[in-house]
Amino acid sequence: MEERNYIQGILHASKTLLVGLKTSIKIFFEHHETEQYPENRDTLIFSDRNRFCLEMPHNEKNQYKCIACGLCQMACPNDSIHITSEMVETEDGKKKKQLVKYEYNLGQCMFCNLCVTACPHDAIQFNQEFENAVFDKKKLILTLNHPGSTLAEKPRPVVTPKPLETLKTAE
Ligand code: SF4
Ligand code: SF4
Repeated sequence: MEERNYIQGILHASKTLLVGLKTSIKIFFEHHETEQYPENRDTLIFSDRNRFCLEMPHNEKNQYKCIACGLCQMACPNDSIHITSEMVETEDGKKKKQLVKYEYNLGQCMFCNLCVTACPHDAIQFNQEFENAVFDKKKLILTLNHPGSTLAEKPRPVVTPKPLETLKTAE
């Protein structure tokens, strides 16, 4: 009985060895998708959904859309955003909050996108810049609004008049 178990054990071990070898040989001859980074840096293609670093787009007049409402800062679960704002008086004598400094800690961010989702003005977004390693972690605290940049005028919503027939159908 013991001899029989011994032989069965050897057969089972040989079978599993052959199964493993078959898999190795199959994988060896398959086409591999290994990225030759950094040699392929210029041809790298990323998904648009990648989140590498938060940024605040500025237009050609160096204006941004942020109104310093602080919703992104409140939405951030780990304090990666710090907003400094001030109250200014507009030409018509009204008080208005204005962004002074938008600080973002890339080293702390966990790329959850909650800040982008919370922003009511589409003022921030994630970019595709992925080589962000630095020797000093203080350099990972980024100021997203450019020096001397100004608040963009709030775009007016475009209202397209509906034809009378459409309105009647909707009612
Ligand atoms: S992606 Fe998440 S962790 Fe990073 S700044 Fe935005 S809310 Fe904070
Ligand atoms: S980025 Fe958006 S949510 Fe954050 S302070 Fe500016 S307008 Fe408000």
